[in-house]
Amino acid sequence: MCDMRVAALMAGVALTAQAAETMRIAVGPEVNEVLVAGRALSCGDDVDDAEFVSLGRDALTLTKRGQALWLDGAALPVDAIRCRAANDGPLRVNGVQVQGDVVVLPGKARLAVVNVLPLEAYLQGVLGSEMPKTFPLEALKAQAVAARTYALNKKLEQYGQPFHLGSSVISQVYKGLEADDPRTREAIEATRGQIVTWQLQPIEAYFHASCGGHTESGLDALGRDLPYLRSVACPCVKLPTSHWTLKVAPKELQPVSGGKASGLQVQGRSPTGRVRRVQVGARSVDAVSFRERLGYMRLKSLDFEVASQAKDGWVLKGHGFGHGAGLCQWGSRMLADAGKDYRQILEHYYPGTELQALYE
Ligand SMILES: [Zn+2]
Repeated sequence: MCDMRVAALMAGVALTAQAAETMRIAVGPEVNEVLVAGRALSCGDDVDDAEFVSLGRDALTLTKRGQALWLDGAALPVDAIRCRAANDGPLRVNGVQVQGDVVVLPGKARLAVVNVLPLEAYLQGVLGSEMPKTFPLEALKAQAVAARTYALNKKLEQYGQPFHLGSSVISQVYKGLEADDPRTREAIEATRGQIVTWQLQPIEAYFHASCGGHTESGLDALGRDLPYLRSVACPCVKLPTSHWTLKVAPKELQPVSGGKASGLQVQGRSPTGRVRRVQVGARSVDAVSFRERLGYMRLKSLDFEVASQAKDGWVLKGHGFGHGAGLCQWGSRMLADAGKDYRQILEHYYPGTELQALYE
């Protein structure tokens, strides 16, 4: 990341108190046809100060032929088109309701859809998807700051690209207006503009559902050797939901072992006890790709042991859900229930960092 760019962006944000810090979020995979609907649509070029021309209607259909963008059967003389509803009202794009503008542009193969919206509005579409809305307010506030920080970090990393983040679990789950909720809105507004920094830069604010008792270092979980992603103890170990059992059938392991899977053994562990490598039949496999092959929802974490082996498969017993690095959501809930505020929660999971207000 370029320090000058960070400094310029942060200075720019600080100077505009009303901070229109915008995000560009890819909505769904590329598609052949895009239907945009909203009240009294207008369109313009894909720049922040574009002049918008009213189309005098509430829906339009965009397609791609060759590299050209087509609107209702006529080629457009632009590479990308930005659409907006009257009075910045909501838009519906291919079934997803969003705030802000929608940009449609040729993607790698088909059409890409990008939602351009203020960072604070983006968080409303993220927070309810990433953490249960019933969690205590201080936990939701910690999550809001982490999600804001994560987004800003990605924006700096992807500066100048068509979009900064996707909308799936690989980025942060973004469900547009569907995820909006009074409690999450309160958490976002109460922490408006606040981010977690290390040496004045937004950190890589990773988070996960539950660590099972000890968070994992950034290096061991994600290959990110960062001073603030250290392993810390977590109270979520006391929760019954932190413990799981999974039965794995031999046929599930065949794609991993490349043949008949006759055995499953743990080969190595990280300092926090998470599995690093497994022996599957005759093959030694990296544990991260082992979890990916079995499915992230099925093998919930790498903190497991092979508890027993039977003729029809193996029983794995484990703790936690997710990669384990950074903020633990269920642990945050327990810390909030014990009276900690969001600042203390963030300090706990991102040790050595500082909370800063970019704008108010
Ligand atoms: Zn935890």
